[in-house]
Amino acid sequence: MGTTQGRDIAIIGGGIGGLTAALAFARHNAKVTVYEQAPALTEVGAGLQITPNGARALNALGIHNDLAAAGVTAQAVVPMDVVASREITRFDLTGQTPPYRFYHRAALIDILARACEAAGVTVKLGARIADLNADGSFTAGGEVIRPAMTIGADGLHSVVRGLINKPAKPFFTGQVAWRAVIKSDKADPVARIWMAPGRHMVTYPLSGGRLNIVAVQERSQWADEGWNHADDPGNLRMAFADCGWEVKSILGEVEQVNLWGLFRHPVAEKWHAGSVAILGDAAHPTLPFLAQGANLAIEDAYVLARSCDEAASLDAGLQDYQSKRRARVVRAIEAANKNAKNYHLSGVQRSVAHTGLRVMGKFAPSAFLNRLGWLYDHDVTA
Ligand SMILES: Cc1cc2nc3c(=O)[nH]c(=O)nc-3n(C[C@H](O)[C@H](O)[C@H](O)COP(=O)(O)OP(=O)(O)OC[C@H]3O[C@@H](n4cnc5c(N)ncnc54)[C@H](O)[C@@H]3O)c2cc1C
Repeated sequence: MGTTQGRDIAIIGGGIGGLTAALAFARHNAKVTVYEQAPALTEVGAGLQITPNGARALNALGIHNDLAAAGVTAQAVVPMDVVASREITRFDLTGQTPPYRFYHRAALIDILARACEAAGVTVKLGARIADLNADGSFTAGGEVIRPAMTIGADGLHSVVRGLINKPAKPFFTGQVAWRAVIKSDKADPVARIWMAPGRHMVTYPLSGGRLNIVAVQERSQWADEGWNHADDPGNLRMAFADCGWEVKSILGEVEQVNLWGLFRHPVAEKWHAGSVAILGDAAHPTLPFLAQGANLAIEDAYVLARSCDEAASLDAGLQDYQSKRRARVVRAIEAANKNAKNYHLSGVQRSVAHTGLRVMGKFAPSAFLNRLGWLYDHDVTA
């Protein structure tokens, strides 16, 4: 026990995955430094759904009180008929333990950053790491750093992934997505999925009287990958112009919106080499159709720290980490890939699917959650 105790662990990237890993290693008494390229630890102004599987790992790291205070507890997932502005059915989430919650990303980052600071983690900001070597050493602030382990939590365009894997080419899925946050005091604590032919939109409330919006449209044109491309809100309204009054009234409130292209990336073959490991989007970028990218990054971080701490050697710990994680991650990503198709049906297929949802909601309401039991009931802390 205690393989990582007192050892230097360097984490490249201070997003949700990197900060969770920093906290998890610090709880095993490692000496952790996070290198983040941005000048401050922050996140884009958007929401995040943390499902019970991710919440279990975060709670086990001792931040449950802060999480409960910052999140909105979800009561249901509600598929909506966009044309009639009518609920198709309602799948209850109130029995979930720990609760399924909606967060503002910046609030979650803030909770993690404060917990890291209290646990003795050092965070170096404005530290973009570009020259990583195969032995895990790199230069930061003109100094050569040689940690016992280097973790790439550097997201979608990871440099660490490229060091231990062959280059892989992502492909455009034929879908673009907008995200926006509007003021809304009246929103119920539910995730609404507004389904229309070739499009869908997900809305859920955030603390402070806000509503988070992610809208997806099928398109043949390519759009840039990455979150921060501003678009004209009029384009978003136009994409849903034939929908019912409720969608129109929500989109009518949008003042600022970002648009980006959705790409599929293969899951990395190798998640570690020597003393270097990757986690979260660096290992497996995910389409946002199952709300699992951050949840999986959190699970990865927890398992990585524990496997490395409990194994007889770092190498054995890293092997244990990949063997515990990869198959689950592949399954989650495949499930997310399938969801977009189900949301975008048209014609007869759409009517049949909506009837199926109505029947399930009426006669077998637990079937929806039972189908996701493998995802939400998983407990990496067990
Ligand atoms: C619209 C949308 C909605 C989503 N909704 C959900 C949801 O509801 N639930 C969910 O679980 N997931 C969701 N996701 C996915 C989730 O946002 C990501 O999977 C998650 O943020 C990945 O976390 P990460 O820490 O691995 O990477 P990131 O959050 O990308 O963090 C990487 C960090 O590394 C830093 N960095 C990068 N390169 C370097 C470098 N060379 N040197 C130093 N620092 C570097 C970056 O600045 C960044 O801070 C959603 C995604 C999208 C696009």
